[in-house]
Order: sequence, then C-alpha cells, then structure tokens
Amino acid sequence: MRYSGLKVIWEGLTGNTGWAPAWRDPAPKAEYDAIIIGGGGHGLSTAYYLAKNHGMTNIAVLEKGYIGSGNIGRNTTIVRANYFLPGNSEFYSHSLKLWEGLEADLNYNVMHSQRGLINLFHSDGQRDAFVRRGNAMINQGDDAILLDRDGVREQLPYLDFEQTRFPIYGGLLHPRGGSARHDAVAWGYARGADKRGVDLIQNCEVTGIDIENGVVRGVQTTRGAIRAKKVGIIVAGRSSQVAAMAGMRLPIESHVLQAFVTEGLKPVINHVISFGMGHFYISQSDKGGLVFGGDLDFYASYASRGNLPMVEHVMEAGMTLMPMIGRAKVLRSWGGIMDMSPDGSPIIDKTHVDGLFLDCGWNYGGFKAVPASGWCMAHLMATGESHEVARKFRLNRFATGHLLDEEGTGSQHNLH
Ligand SMILES: Cc1cc2nc3c(=O)[nH]c(=O)nc-3n(C[C@H](O)[C@H](O)[C@H](O)COP(=O)(O)OP(=O)(O)OC[C@H]3O[C@@H](n4cnc5c(N)ncnc54)[C@H](O)[C@@H]3O)c2cc1C
Repeated sequence: MRYSGLKVIWEGLTGNTGWAPAWRDPAPKAEYDAIIIGGGGHGLSTAYYLAKNHGMTNIAVLEKGYIGSGNIGRNTTIVRANYFLPGNSEFYSHSLKLWEGLEADLNYNVMHSQRGLINLFHSDGQRDAFVRRGNAMINQGDDAILLDRDGVREQLPYLDFEQTRFPIYGGLLHPRGGSARHDAVAWGYARGADKRGVDLIQNCEVTGIDIENGVVRGVQTTRGAIRAKKVGIIVAGRSSQVAAMAGMRLPIESHVLQAFVTEGLKPVINHVISFGMGHFYISQSDKGGLVFGGDLDFYASYASRGNLPMVEHVMEAGMTLMPMIGRAKVLRSWGGIMDMSPDGSPIIDKTHVDGLFLDCGWNYGGFKAVPASGWCMAHLMATGESHEVARKFRLNRFATGHLLDEEGTGSQHNLH
C-alpha cells in the first residue's frame, strides 16, 4: 500500500478501515541467502539496500525483541554531517544526502527536519578549531557558517551568554543539520524491506553462529536453527556478545547513554543546540517536548537505564546554558547501550570467518549514520568489497594503529 495525502483523506472519510499492517509477521524459513542479526536502524537499512540496490530479497532480519526496541528508538534524533577527518567526512556527507531523499525513497514520513545545528564555542582556541572544521565541511560539499556572539544571540536569544565558566563566544551553524523521528526511521526501513520480500522476524534471539571450516553456515536462534550463506552482525550495544559467538574479541566497550524529555511546550527552540563544553545538547520535538542529553554514564554496562549522578550533571549543564529550562518539568528519561570503539569511529568490515560481516562501533552518533551504514554494509555483503565512502572503517586499523580519532582523545572508549 502506498501512502499519500489523498489516502489519508480517503481513510479519514471512510472510518480508517483500509489500513493494512506495515509489514508481515512471517515464520522463519529453514534457509536464506543472507541473515541480518539485529533489527535496529542499521540492520533494517542494510536489509533494505541489499534488496533495493543489489536485488537480494531472500533475506531475514532476526530481532530478539521488537523492531525499534533498541537504540534506534532511544536516541535524541540528531542528523548532521559536520565531521572533520577524511574517512568520516565523506561517509557522513553521503548519509546526509541519503537522508534528504529518504522520505520519497521509502514513501514514509520520517519527519526529517533540517532546522540547523549550532555548536557553541567558548574560547579563541575553540573558535579556531571550529573554523577548521567548518572549512572541512565546506570542502566536503556540505555547509557551515561561523557565527560570532551576536550572530548566535540573534538565533538563540534565551541562552546565558555571560555564564562565568563558559561565556559564549559564538557558534558553528550547520544549516542542513537537524533531526528526524527515530522510530519512524525504523518503521520506514522495515516497511520498505518487507515490501521487497525481506522477512522481519521479531522475538527471535540469535544464540549461536554456525561455522564450519572457517565458513559461516547459519545461526542458532530461540526459534530454531536457520541456515544462511551470509550473516551480518549489526547489533550495536550487543556487538561484543554476538561477535563472541564467532570466537571474536572486539575492540568495543558497551556504555550507557541517557536522554531526557520535558512536557510539551509551545515552540521555543528552533535549532539543535550543542554545548560541548558542558556535555549538553538540546532540541525541541514536533510534539513540543524539549529533548536533551549529555555524556555517557561513567562505567561500562549492559543496563539500558542510567544513574542519578549523570542526571544531575545534565540538569546542571542545562541550567547553566539556558536558565529558563528550570521552569520545564522533565517527563521521562531513559538509557541506551552504546557500542563505543577506541577511536570513536565505526567498523563496517568482513571478519576472519568467510561470509560473516560486522557493522558496529557507532558510539553515540549512529542514528545519523543509519542510511549510509545500511548502504555501505549492503554493498560489502553483496559484493565482498568495501564501499568507497566506508574504506577507512576496517577492523585492521586497531592492529596497525591507523585510528580515525575525530575527537583526538586517544584510545579511551568512554571519551568519544
Ligand atoms: C540516549 C541516546 C541518544 C542518542 N542520540 C543520538 C543522536 O542524537 N544522533 C545520532 O546520530 N545518534 C544518537 N545515538 C546513537 C544511535 O542511537 C545508535 O548509534 C544507533 O541507533 C545504533 O544502531 P542501531 O539503530 O542499529 O541499534 P539498535 O536499535 O540498538 O539495534 C540493534 C538491535 O540488535 C538486537 N539484538 C541484540 N542482540 C541480538 C541477538 N543476539 N539476536 C537478535 N537481535 C539482537 C537488539 O535487540 C536491537 O534491536 C543515541 C543513542 C542513545 C542511547
């Protein structure tokens, strides 16, 4: 069923009885050409592009919970292409271009809103770094505008510009940055993949990976064994555990990241605002809630809920940046398990097992990467070759030391 404005009007007038489920609920088959482990954003987009770009439709996505139950439904929805390093730059640029055509491609409203992202800076040194970053973004073909303090004040008059610790010197505006509705992205890709014949199998946990003589043969699941010639591990925060089923020890640590939303308010924040020095960022959802978050909790964990010290830290940072936020009531907070790599950059690669592929290490920035990650992982699984914009996302960089360290914080997982 195609969605359209006319269809909405027609259904509204006829009692909304004509809507069909957005995807099927098939039983697992005994064998597929390819299996994707993990029905998050990256797993679903990989399945979608395998079917759409490479004509592979005998595919199953195996999800241990329900579609959208992982980080894809837990993130703070920021979409941007403001990376500095070659390797990251072209990948996220490619992703943003895919975002810009995504709704038409999927025939699904993912509420992609290019409302602009402003990264604040608070010293001359930081301004110089943002000038360089802005130039790198422009050289990549994306957009960046350097705002001085008055420029930021014009756009965000409610910030506290004179705060003693981090007075605001200006900001780097990325006009094409913004946000999208996170779970709609999962639903849109799920529906698109299903339409092309992909089986989405929920409540199906992978418990083992079958390997014979160095070649993948399939997986063991809570719904029985399933054979496959190719298997992709795309399970974000659970990457180390699932890769261990194939005897791999990944350079990944899992950490909790929390987020918060207030009661619905009238429109007040037009942009996405990032206050890096205070570990705080914020935007306003279309429903009116202020959506904000901060840094990781300070310990590795598989619990998808966080701790109170970080709640306090984020609230303090919010109050420092925009004291008016103290008038809003926080409605909910939650956590997600982040697959942190030592250099903060992802992995899209083959493994030592023939037919077994890996897509992980998205840290806390993998939502915006969903389209390009799926595109490049599908390319790798279908052709056996890395896609040109994902060439640097190889596992061997951790052995050779050629890290892709965007933040320059060194090999410490929780600092990325
Ligand atoms: C609070 C928070 C805020 C964030 N904000 C942003 C942001 O603003 N912008 C941004 O770009 N990124 C953001 N991120 C990061 C982003 O959400 C993640 O990097 C990205 O969603 C991870 O990829 P995914 O969607 O595939 O993960 P997931 O949705 O977690 O998908 C992995 C799936 O694998 C399944 N799985 C695990 N083990 C198994 C198994 N054994 N068998 C079968 N299935 C299994 C899980 O159930 C899960 O559904 C944020 C994350 C969090 C938690």
